[in-house]
Amino acid sequence: MLPSPEGHGLGWAHGTARPLSNLLRVIGAADLALARLVEGHVNAAVLVEIHGDRQVREAMRTAVRRGVLLGVWGAEGPEPLEWRDHGGGGFALIGSKRYASGLGHVGLAVLTARATRDAPIRMFLAPADDPNRYDHDAWTASAMRATRSGGFDATGIILEEAECIGKAGALMTEPWFEGGVWRYCAAHVGGAEGLIARWTDMLRRMERLDDPIQRNRLGRAMADATAARAVVEAAAEAVEAASHAPPEAVERAVAHSLLAREAVESACTRILALCERSLGMAAQDIRDPLDRMRRDLSLFLRQAAPDAKLDRAVRTVTETGLEALR
Ligand SMILES: Cc1cc2nc3c(=O)[nH]c(=O)nc-3n(C[C@H](O)[C@H](O)[C@H](O)COP(=O)(O)OP(=O)(O)OC[C@H]3O[C@@H](n4cnc5c(N)ncnc54)[C@H](O)[C@@H]3O)c2cc1C
Repeated sequence: MLPSPEGHGLGWAHGTARPLSNLLRVIGAADLALARLVEGHVNAAVLVEIHGDRQVREAMRTAVRRGVLLGVWGAEGPEPLEWRDHGGGGFALIGSKRYASGLGHVGLAVLTARATRDAPIRMFLAPADDPNRYDHDAWTASAMRATRSGGFDATGIILEEAECIGKAGALMTEPWFEGGVWRYCAAHVGGAEGLIARWTDMLRRMERLDDPIQRNRLGRAMADATAARAVVEAAAEAVEAASHAPPEAVERAVAHSLLAREAVESACTRILALCERSLGMAAQDIRDPLDRMRRDLSLFLRQAAPDAKLDRAVRTVTETGLEALR
């Protein structure tokens, strides 16, 4: 069952941050590709619920009730997606998206586009189910292949004003934009937990689980995963609490989420290294599900602009102090 934008209001209604974090973590532990798609679905629903007017919210809700999967396709290739006036308040799209997850699964995507290269970003809720627009071969990464990610050619899509989501620039509104990175971090923590479970199982099958050095590696990985989970849950709650707070509090919540991202990436990177050292070649055996989990986690950790994210958090914390983070 897909997370519904109604009822539980997962991801935007008060009190849902912790349950959503758990959901993404548990799905991530089973399958990181699925977690990627669910996170995209929730992200799209949140963007429409928070920024959209009644018409686009209704359109999204109706689609989700019919079982439509949503996605957010924002990543740009060398030729960023642009929109042109189509008359009568309509928009014509020109260009394509890359790294679009869920080709063939996603029915409606939040597409970002600008009027010109430096103009503010607009969001549109656009049909995403035309296979002629897909470029599966554009996903050249060796991992996360089950996400069915690739290029999406949006040229010629005509949209009405009612399919616009919020005002130009709304996408960057905090604490929802950078503050929202905790969601993919929750999936990463799930991936780390899933990897540890498969690793433990493999050591057991190899009859090496009683070896003190192997137990030490496992213990360090478990400690990292436990700490990463706590850090993500704290960030999720801080961002949720800041949703109607004054700007300084919002920026502190964003910093909290960005520092959590850094902590989770570091923890997951250490866990991957410990697992690979522990299992040697067996960690890279394509016949075992551990190998896919290891490769998927390693790739999924590579999200946009990590250095800029850390730097933004540092700027906030140098002014307010770590103590000021919730
Ligand atoms: C499995 C998976 C699924 C995805 N699905 C989607 C999706 O559905 N929709 C979507 O929109 N996107 C999706 N993405 C793309 C994602 O949102 C990011 O765009 C992508 O992961 C960025 O990866 P990157 O390593 O190229 O990042 P980069 O931002 O290029 O970072 C790589 C390195 O370059 C550094 N760097 C970045 N900018 C600069 C600069 N200006 N100067 C110097 N150094 C710089 C970074 O700090 C980092 O060290 C997906 C990605 C993955 C891995």
